[in-house]
Amino acid sequence: MYLTLNDGRKLGIEVSKGADLVYISHAHSDHARGRNIFSSHETFDLLSAGSEKQTSLVRVNDENIKLFPAGHILGSTQLRFTNGHTVVYTGDMKLRDGFTTEKAEIIECDELHIDCTFGHPDFNFPEKEEIADRIDRWTRTRLMTGQNVIFGAYSTGKAQELIHILNNYSDVTPVVDHAIEQKCKVYDKHGIKLKRFEIGTYEATEAMKGKFVYVVPFHFVNQQSEKWFEAQYKRVSFALVTGWANRYKYRNQAFPLSDHAGFYEILKYVEESKAKEIVCHYGHAGVMSSFLKSKGYNAKTDKEWEASLTPAVYQTKINEPVQMTVRV
Ligand SMILES: [Zn+2]
Repeated sequence: MYLTLNDGRKLGIEVSKGADLVYISHAHSDHARGRNIFSSHETFDLLSAGSEKQTSLVRVNDENIKLFPAGHILGSTQLRFTNGHTVVYTGDMKLRDGFTTEKAEIIECDELHIDCTFGHPDFNFPEKEEIADRIDRWTRTRLMTGQNVIFGAYSTGKAQELIHILNNYSDVTPVVDHAIEQKCKVYDKHGIKLKRFEIGTYEATEAMKGKFVYVVPFHFVNQQSEKWFEAQYKRVSFALVTGWANRYKYRNQAFPLSDHAGFYEILKYVEESKAKEIVCHYGHAGVMSSFLKSKGYNAKTDKEWEASLTPAVYQTKINEPVQMTVRV
């Protein structure tokens, strides 16, 4: 999707090909692309942390465009575009408060582009306190029985929610991997304090002389690495933290802590937005759009929507050019 600026430049909505600047809803790699970025400051800082890519943050000052919280991770936003016809692009979002993010606001619109990663009835997520209690009980039991604990979690967003739980429910200061530490520093900068020790520091080495909790990127926990961790740290219990645990079985303990909306949250957003046209993006877009159609909504997947546009530039759907001032 693209919006054309009044100076002729194209703003890609998470599309960089052919765009002069790109709106990025949040700092996960499947959304981040382009060099001239229009996003929240938090998103830009997270994208820049540990990256050697040269990027610049572009400001867009225009009353037709407004960003709203999306409740997904630090700095995640939704974009609303109004010009007679109101369009909302939610990016990844959830309607539940997290420990380090506030829930998304439901925005009324004519055309809604919504995150359907978990747009399947099997995915509905408990409140964060319930998952936190489960993580806390499991962690303390492992530590009390002489096990070290290694958690695999996405480095941006999920790891920080987990560290908050370990700090505040289990009174544990975990050791964290370098990639996670880089993102935690951005959370610090924006006022979210997380107690942790970076692996390799004196404090981490001291902490690891006793029983410890170590948080590593999600993909670090696999059959091969587990053997290495066990050789290195002896008695180790592994756990994963991911919304997919709501449906799929993992070899290790897994907790369904999700940063996305579940099925009924998506439905609630669709209903309360009063949108006349719904475009389902990501994950279970096909399942969600079929369900919505069966309930009488004008819904389609992003692929169907793109195919219906000729040419595939959003500007062709609106009558007037977007009036906006761009300041770099
Ligand atoms: Zn995301």
